Amino acid sequence: MRLGDYTDDYCSRCRRVMDHSVVSISGEQAARVRCRTCDYEHTYRKNRGGKKEMSAKQAFDHVLASVMGSMPSAEKPKKRRK
Ligand SMILES: [Zn+2]
Repeated sequence: MRLGDYTDDYCSRCRRVMDHSVVSISGEQAARVRCRTCDYEHTYRKNRGGKKEMSAKQAFDHVLASVMGSMPSAEKPKKRRK
C-alpha cells in the first residue's frame, strides 16, 4: 500500500464500495482515502461496507433457513393430537 494507490473502500457519500486513492498511510495500511467518484476524503474503513453486506446476507439466509425448517415441524404437534 502506497500513496496514490487505488483501493476499494466504502464511501459514505456514494453509499457504496467505490474506487479510492490512498492519500495518507499509517504503518503498512492506508489511513485516509479519497473517493475517485465524488472526491470525498475520509478515513480508510478497510472495506468494511462490503463485509457487512455479506454478513447481513448470511444472517438473512440463516433466518430464512430456520423459518423454512420450523414450518414443517410446527405442523407435527397437530398430527400427534389426533
Ligand atoms: Zn464517493
